[in-house]
Amino acid sequence: MHSIIIIMKQKFLDILNNKKIFKLVLGLGNRHFEEIEDLVTIYAIAGADMFDINPSKEAVEAVMRGVKKSGRNSEDFYYSISMGLSGDTHVQKCVIDKDKCKNCGRCVKKCPQNAIVPAKNCYKVITQNCIGCQKCDGCKAISFTENQYEVEKIVKIAKKYNLDCIEIHLSTKKIPDKEIKYVIENFDGALSLCLDRKFYSNERVKKLINKVIKWKGDTNFIIQADGVPMSGGDNTFCSTLQSVAMAQLVQSYGTYIFMSGGTNEKTAELAGMCSLRYNGISIGSYARKIVKDRNLADAVAQAQRLIEICKK
Ligand code: SF4
Ligand code: SF4
Repeated sequence: MHSIIIIMKQKFLDILNNKKIFKLVLGLGNRHFEEIEDLVTIYAIAGADMFDINPSKEAVEAVMRGVKKSGRNSEDFYYSISMGLSGDTHVQKCVIDKDKCKNCGRCVKKCPQNAIVPAKNCYKVITQNCIGCQKCDGCKAISFTENQYEVEKIVKIAKKYNLDCIEIHLSTKKIPDKEIKYVIENFDGALSLCLDRKFYSNERVKKLINKVIKWKGDTNFIIQADGVPMSGGDNTFCSTLQSVAMAQLVQSYGTYIFMSGGTNEKTAELAGMCSLRYNGISIGSYARKIVKDRNLADAVAQAQRLIEICKK
């Protein structure tokens, strides 16, 4: 229906058709701009192909600063901006009630982002560092607030910075028809739909993909097969199993496929064992973890190793 309007940017189509790509997920909720800049510098030097960014101009500009610091050109990479919907943990931020906090420090040890820090007789959250993973949940002092993202604003940012892709996270009970159609009708870059295994049965996947094929008139869109979002960190087959299972479920529909959610050094190997057709691997938590607290040369070496394994 909208195939004339939606012409996926040629260079991005070419790369998807010709090689497997490595996408660094910086975190939909991650607004820690210094961390974003550093991660992009490391992974740009190491040879990543694509960056997935929080939907804000500050985050996009941090990515561009990181690329510049790496000495590479911004045209050498592809950029995706991510959108979360109400109810999705990606759009949530942790809050600690100082009157209920017993100062025990348990939540600090669970936080992968160093987002919880000591305050006066309690702990507090550095909101910009919090990615909403909810690993700290389970204490009466902790609750979560939600950041609302409007699709119109996200499309505006993507157009302003000439980004290649808009990714909509669909970790919700209701399929957001309005938002998906809006991106199809108003953005001439690529559309990616991130499907969380927890929310998508075989039947629901079929219903969603067939709907989108009808709206677009083609299969030129990406399904990001999200195993267990924000669970990465472990380098095991178990961690990445659901992402591979999700990719296996969608591979017959003819769309492009990326794997994410628990992805690590085992993802490509497991996908190979399953003879899976896919176009890229997106890694967030594990990619961030292996470069943490290292000097630049060490961090780049770690990142290079991960990228090579993923692109085999
Ligand atoms: S928020 Fe809860 S877990 Fe964290 S330090 Fe306070 S009492 Fe302990
Ligand atoms: S554990 Fe996750 S949700 Fe909790 S503060 Fe840290 S990043 Fe935020």
